[in-house]
Amino acid sequence: MNEQRKRIFGIDLGTTYSSLAVVDEYGKPVVVPNSDNQHITPSVVFFDGENIVVGEIAKENSKIYPNDVVSFVKRSMGEPDFLFEHNGKTFRAEEISSFIIRKVVQDAEQNLGEKITDIVITCPAYFGINEREATRRAGEIAGYNVRQIINEPTSAAIAYGFLESAEEKVVLVYDLGGGTFDITMIDIQSNAIEVICTGGDHNLGGKDWDDRIVAYLLQEFQNTTKVEEDILEDPDTCQDLLLSAEKAKKVLSQRDRTPVLITHGGERVKVVLERKKFEEITQDLLERTVALTYEMLEEAKKKGYWNYDEIIMVGGSSRMPQVAARIKQEFSMTPKIFDPDEAVAKGAAIYGWKLALNEGMKKKAAAKAGKTVEQLEESPEADIENVLDEVEQLVAEDTGYSLSDVQRSRIRIKNVTSKSFGIIAHDSNDQEVVFNLILKNTDVPTNITKTFGTAIDDQEAVSIQIMENESNETIAPPEQALVIGTAVLNLPPGLSADTPIDITFKMNEEGRLEITAIEPTASRRTVRAIMKTTSVIQDDEMKKAKARSKEMTVS
Ligand code: AMP
Repeated sequence: MNEQRKRIFGIDLGTTYSSLAVVDEYGKPVVVPNSDNQHITPSVVFFDGENIVVGEIAKENSKIYPNDVVSFVKRSMGEPDFLFEHNGKTFRAEEISSFIIRKVVQDAEQNLGEKITDIVITCPAYFGINEREATRRAGEIAGYNVRQIINEPTSAAIAYGFLESAEEKVVLVYDLGGGTFDITMIDIQSNAIEVICTGGDHNLGGKDWDDRIVAYLLQEFQNTTKVEEDILEDPDTCQDLLLSAEKAKKVLSQRDRTPVLITHGGERVKVVLERKKFEEITQDLLERTVALTYEMLEEAKKKGYWNYDEIIMVGGSSRMPQVAARIKQEFSMTPKIFDPDEAVAKGAAIYGWKLALNEGMKKKAAAKAGKTVEQLEESPEADIENVLDEVEQLVAEDTGYSLSDVQRSRIRIKNVTSKSFGIIAHDSNDQEVVFNLILKNTDVPTNITKTFGTAIDDQEAVSIQIMENESNETIAPPEQALVIGTAVLNLPPGLSADTPIDITFKMNEEGRLEITAIEPTASRRTVRAIMKTTSVIQDDEMKKAKARSKEMTVS
């Protein structure tokens, strides 16, 4: 395969819809249509016997076979308790997501006549370690090389920076999707895209607007029929109402009112839903996005960012007219609605394209310098830059992209962590606390070492509990933190209490955490903490899932 054909594809693995994009031969990101010629595929999985059906047909079947259909699985990523049972088998969220990935990839392969091996997948900025890892595993179970997990708002900003904005500016990306809300401040410069700050709620999205309509419809049904029964307990009615609610919501983005028909137990009730009513029953949800935006802006100020130039809106739910209106009213700036359905997939495609080109450049530069790529990467930054400058033209000739495209692919993309990470330690009152080594919104990659002490004489081992939390403070309460892994450092005998232990947290640019602990005095014993977690599919289970995936057809 020559350089030109080696492409890395971008996948927006959404709560409600997914899509796939790639940078074409002209250096333009394009969404590849699915087998129904649509640019987005519902992230809905229907277990049809031994076959897996994903997309529009699955969504339609959710009415008829509600127990065989999984929707909104993204909301359960990284949750150890989520298990979907079907035909005596259980499936974790990452396995179900792997079917969605397979579907969008297979459709694209058919459409393009090209084998896809390498992908970049997006996830909400708000995702923690477990959810990110689960997203990566979903791609791996599906059988692809997952080259990077990148944040959805960063992805949208990359697309925006490439496609719309030639100027340097600070933008707020307001991303209201199907299941998540992310608000991110991004500094777009000519040679870099830097995430400054991020916030949001991974349980706030279009689905909540749908749920409010469902609750309203239920009330209207009860008022009209005088039936007290909770008709949502009937799975068929519940699914039916959910689908009708989403349709009604979309109509209300265009019109002032829409009729909805509710049928249950032989009763038929027609409800006319007015846009005004819809806005009233969902106002608090919108206000929550405003409050979260203010929270993020406060954090940005701590980093010296007091102003921004633009607000861009992505995510399907930003199509609801009241969203832009409210943001304009609150922030005195007209937000730009930017390619709500496709921006994230296109940004991921640009990122993949950048990875592939940068790799090509590094290989060429290394060959020119008579080094391996690894040796080259050990050289001082300026040396690498110099040799890369020299090979840009060669790569442009090889790939057929213009020299300016190749140069553009060298843009730096810098991220921040969306959570804080620390360990359980004891304070001076011997109370358990979380001591955060990495604080939320720290620039990544980052590498931080702190020294802790052993608790007692002759301590045999140190057990390190790795915690994820939302706090902005170095010391945080353990009850507000999540254990994401544990590690044990065995100690040599005879150490006194308070022997120093150096703990290092190293986080890479995609938010993967590596932990090492060293007893630096007596033995220099080191443990690399293997993050043992039950929240994400591991080892044997992962192998089984991969094998099982191969046996199942996805259509
Ligand atoms: P995303 O996760 O970005 O694909 O956003 C999907 C969400 O956007 C779903 O909740 C959709 O119901 C919602 N959505 C898509 N189109 C519209 C529209 N025209 N009006 C209101 N909501 C929409």
